[in-house]
Formats: sequence, C-alpha cells, structure tokens
Amino acid sequence: MDLVADHNRRKRVGRAVWLMAAVTAGAACAATAQQPIGGLPVAKADPKIAAAIAKISPDNVKADIAKLVTFKNRSTLSSMDTDLPEGTGVTAAADWIYSEYQRISDECGGCLEVKRDDFIEPAVAGSRITKDTRLQNIYAVLKGTDPAQANRRVLVTGHYDSRNSDVSNTHDDAPGANDDASGVAVSIESARVLSKLKFPATIVFVAVAGEEQGLNGSRHLAKLAKSEGWDLEAVLNNDIVGGDNTPGNKAEGVPGQDTHAVRVFSEGVPSPATLQDLHTIQTYGYESDSPSREVARAIAEVSRTYMKPLAGGSPFHPVLEFRRDRFGRGGDHSSFNAEGFAAVRFTEWRENFNHQHQDLRTETGQLPDGKDGTVEFGDYLKFVDTSYTANVARVNAASLATFASAPGEPTNVVFPEVKITNGFNDNFSVISWQAPAGAPADTTYEVVWRPTDAPTWTNVKSAGSALTLKLDISKDNVVFGVRSVDAAGHRSPAVVPYPVRRATMSPSAPRKTK
Ligand SMILES: [Zn+2]
Repeated sequence: MDLVADHNRRKRVGRAVWLMAAVTAGAACAATAQQPIGGLPVAKADPKIAAAIAKISPDNVKADIAKLVTFKNRSTLSSMDTDLPEGTGVTAAADWIYSEYQRISDECGGCLEVKRDDFIEPAVAGSRITKDTRLQNIYAVLKGTDPAQANRRVLVTGHYDSRNSDVSNTHDDAPGANDDASGVAVSIESARVLSKLKFPATIVFVAVAGEEQGLNGSRHLAKLAKSEGWDLEAVLNNDIVGGDNTPGNKAEGVPGQDTHAVRVFSEGVPSPATLQDLHTIQTYGYESDSPSREVARAIAEVSRTYMKPLAGGSPFHPVLEFRRDRFGRGGDHSSFNAEGFAAVRFTEWRENFNHQHQDLRTETGQLPDGKDGTVEFGDYLKFVDTSYTANVARVNAASLATFASAPGEPTNVVFPEVKITNGFNDNFSVISWQAPAGAPADTTYEVVWRPTDAPTWTNVKSAGSALTLKLDISKDNVVFGVRSVDAAGHRSPAVVPYPVRRATMSPSAPRKTK
C-alpha cells in the first residue's frame, strides 16, 4: 500500500491525522515491502498485556511444532486406522494437545477448562470423508472473571491435522510443520501466556481437526457455538503462519518472504447475508464493513500499540487483505463466518507451495528464484521461521487480551434522526447507541470515522459516557463506527450505524441472531 499516494487522494476529512500517521509509518519501515497501516493515534499499551506477549518465545513455538511433527501423519482419516505405530497419527496428536493445555492449566492453578469434543463425522459421498470418521476438537477455556461479561468470547484456532500429496493418505509422512502446526502453536502459546492473567470476558484456545478434509472440525465447533448461544465476538484463525524461510523464495525483482508482515484476511460482506441484506448493505455503502472486517481493523490498531520495531526498523504488522481468504481458497474461519460470527484468517506473507500438501521428496527442477537445482518438497520444520510465528502469536495474544478486557461492542448503533420525510438531506450526523450487555459503569464510547475510500479508521472523537454524539460531518463522505472503551483504554472493535428504521435488519450485527 502506498500511504503517500493514498494520502494525496484525501481532501476532506482527517487530513492532518492521516498525514502524520503516513509520515510516521513511512519513516519507520522503509526497509520492508509491506507498510504498516497508518490511522488513529496509537493507543497506550496495557503493561500486563505487553509483559505477557513478551513471554512468547520462538523456542516454545519450535518445541510445539517439533512435537506435532513427531506424529508422522496427522491425517484426520488416520483416527480410524488400527495398524499405526504407537505414538503416531491424528489421535496421538490430539492426546498431546489435550495434555499440553492441561499442563498449562495446572501451572495456573486449574484456570483453564480443557475440553475434548469427540464426535463421528459421517461419510459423505464425493467428499474427503470417505468413511464414518472420529474427529476431536481440543480446546481450553479461560473463563471470564466478570459474570456479567463471561458469555462474551473471543477465540483463537489452528488446525492440527496434516496431509501430504494424497489427501486420503494416512501412513506416509505428512509433517505439516507450517500447515498447520504453526497455527496450533499460536493457540498453545497464547494460552500459555494469557492464562497467567485475568479477563472479564472469556478466551477460548482451540485446535481443530478435519480442515484438510473439508473444514469439518471448525464447522462442528461453529455450529456448537451458535447452538449454545455463545456471544462470540471475534475468531482468529491461524493457518500457515510459519513464515517459510527458504532461501531464494522470491520472484524476480520483488521481495520474497516479508518477515515483518502477516496477512489478515476478512470478508467484506457477512456470509449469511440474504438478498435483502445485500441490498441494504449496498444502499448504505457498507460493502467493506462486515463485523469480520471491523475485527481485522481492530487487530491492526492493537498491533500498532504492542508490536515494537524489529531489526530493519519496522514493527511486525498485519497487512489487511480485503477478501475472505486467499484467491479462491478457504479455511476454518469460513465455518464461523457461515454461522454469522466475525472471523479472520492469519497467513504468512508469501506461501511456498513446495512446502505444503507435498510428499517428502527431492526433484531436479526450477528453484523459487528461477534457477535450476535440487528442489526439496515437504512441510518440514526446518522451513519454518519460529521467530516469525512467535510474532504472529504476539499479535494474536495482544488482540485476544484487548478484546477480552474491553467492554463488548455497543449495540443498536443507529442514525436516529433519519426520517422518511426528509430522507438524508443534512450535512451533519447524529449517532446513537446502547451500552453492551454487562458493560462496566465507567465504560465510555468513541466514534471513529474514515473517508469512504480509506481502508482503516482515520479519525476519532470520544463521546465520554454519553450514548449519542452529533458531528458536523456529512455521512455521505465518511463511514462512521462506534466502539466501547474501558477505564484502562481497551477498545472493542467498531460497529457501523444504520438508519434507525433499518437497524433491526441483520447485516450490522448478524452474530447477535441467537
Ligand atoms: Zn491449513
């Protein structure tokens, strides 16, 4: 993203703030290809969160991934095999993940409730579940300490199943170090450091199976969350966050892996939107303001607070990708999107397809830099940059901790003055909202906004404890959002306002349809 060129297109609102952010960001990160996102003034760090994420270590990440690789082949279908060597296969991997969450819980006096959701996924003709198959989702729940807010949840997940070239092969090596032991390591390390803290809302640390067979584990969990009425505010899916470090993994003339950047994918329009919802979204220009996208924007803000400059000048940072997933591909967050939850996907900047879904082998052929040589195929630990994965884990853990500390998102966010008689013929904007369920008495609110062509929020104004704010800015020219703030400055993701007569429709907050 070219922030300076982007800035030159901004004429109306937020010019000074945007310019300052662009200059700061540009100066800080000249050494890398992907620029950190500018935007609002950087929020003050919570010292407890900063201390916790500093404890995430590449050595722990490496040990987690190395252990998962020892199970040889974590194909979900291997749960039905009876001839596997002891200590191999997906069930042995599930047992280890369970024991690891349990060990973390033991270290915090039993603060985690460790769960094993064990179920049979029935065979479906033409699918990758070729026979009735046992699946296990393993997760650990750090229950919120405020009874009024404990049903609010944020969730981090990765998939622990793996595959090689043949998606139904259960016996030959499929180390799956990057895809997706790295994502499981993010979940485990987040649990390890955050379990030492207390949060008013609940955090769920997850490892699912079945991703490679068709997102079966995440679909089961998302449906469970819906059926049990979880107020699930944000799902952070980590899949392929190993930062493949193969020398020469780049195209001619462009940088290769960016060790300072992780992609965060988010859908623009909620998956369950009906045709009527789509019409409403188009009418108000909210094609880039789904709850998932607001979570992605909030993650970028949290990152700016907590991620310090690395060697080379720029901080590790998310690059917001405004699409549901990589081009034409999918992942576990889509299962949560389908149930109406806000969910995003973290993936390394540049994938190396020789090191995903491949039988272990070498071939003579073209190296990533275009030269001929011996190409090594396979998802080995040696191609994972565990410092990179640790940084992804830090962004995840800081985001989870911030959202679980903040009050919930404001509800019933509306433009109350819009009447059918005068339509939208005014050049000011009044926005009103209601306090989220269980909000502490000292909760305050902020209205954020951005020009319609800006990717992230550029301006902010506090409403204090009021539940309404009038701004002398036309709603034609900007997108507004409202977010909750606790006394310590933790902020919820923003919620966009709909005209009051439309506010009962689903797209502004489809996850509240429980
Ligand atoms: Zn994967």
